[in-house]
Amino acid sequence: MASITFLGTGGGRYVVLSQRRYSGGIWLELESRILVDPGPGALIRALQYKKKPNKLDAVFVSHRHLDHYSDAEVLIEALTEGTVKKRGFLVVEENTLSYISEYHRDLVEVIVPRAGQEFMIKDLRVQALPSYNHASSVGFKFFSESGTVTYSSDTDYDDKLIRYYKNSMILILNCIFPSNREIKTHLNVDKAVIIAQKARPDYLVLTHFGMQMLNANPVDEAKRVERITGVKTIAAEDGLTLDLDNPVKQMIKQSKLV
Ligand SMILES: [Zn+2]
Repeated sequence: MASITFLGTGGGRYVVLSQRRYSGGIWLELESRILVDPGPGALIRALQYKKKPNKLDAVFVSHRHLDHYSDAEVLIEALTEGTVKKRGFLVVEENTLSYISEYHRDLVEVIVPRAGQEFMIKDLRVQALPSYNHASSVGFKFFSESGTVTYSSDTDYDDKLIRYYKNSMILILNCIFPSNREIKTHLNVDKAVIIAQKARPDYLVLTHFGMQMLNANPVDEAKRVERITGVKTIAAEDGLTLDLDNPVKQMIKQSKLV
């Protein structure tokens, strides 16, 4: 089964430090197994949600903020069976490379992609995506046989990003703020609406919620996006698994939960 599991859906210091939502990143089971942006608690959440960190093929780190890189080293130890086997990949944004110890970098193959560049993780083609106004962050586009999955990482809105977000089955946006809350360095729900209208993914998933977003209720905000754009939209939840072969059912199941 090709799937995406959210090991965390929190973003911003207050949510991460209180763990009101977890911060373990996103676990992808596609043609390869990848953990994207392992923030505080990634190993614990992976085990909590019955994932096998020693089966990972790669750890991806999109930028140098703590909630995206903090647990990269412990996950590298997990995927190398406690540093015994040299295997797997670390994909890391250029300015974040020095945040990972040399000892851990030497255990894996390191890829430092530039925005727009493509590379392979086993049989999975991946493209690094640009961001706008957020710590030289890179997003990622995963070209799976089961459908293209695009992850924005942290970014502000810019028109030049749209062409990278197009042709996605699932577009995951780090949407830290609700609508009517202006922020220059991140996406809020109003910007997610513009992206949904222009990029037209089959499914839009909002995640990486800050305190104001949680107080506004991400489920209501997701419904607002869907109402305005007609794009099927859900708010991610900690532990939510989306089955790529059946995302519609998953979404119906989730909407019944709320
Ligand atoms: Zn950030």
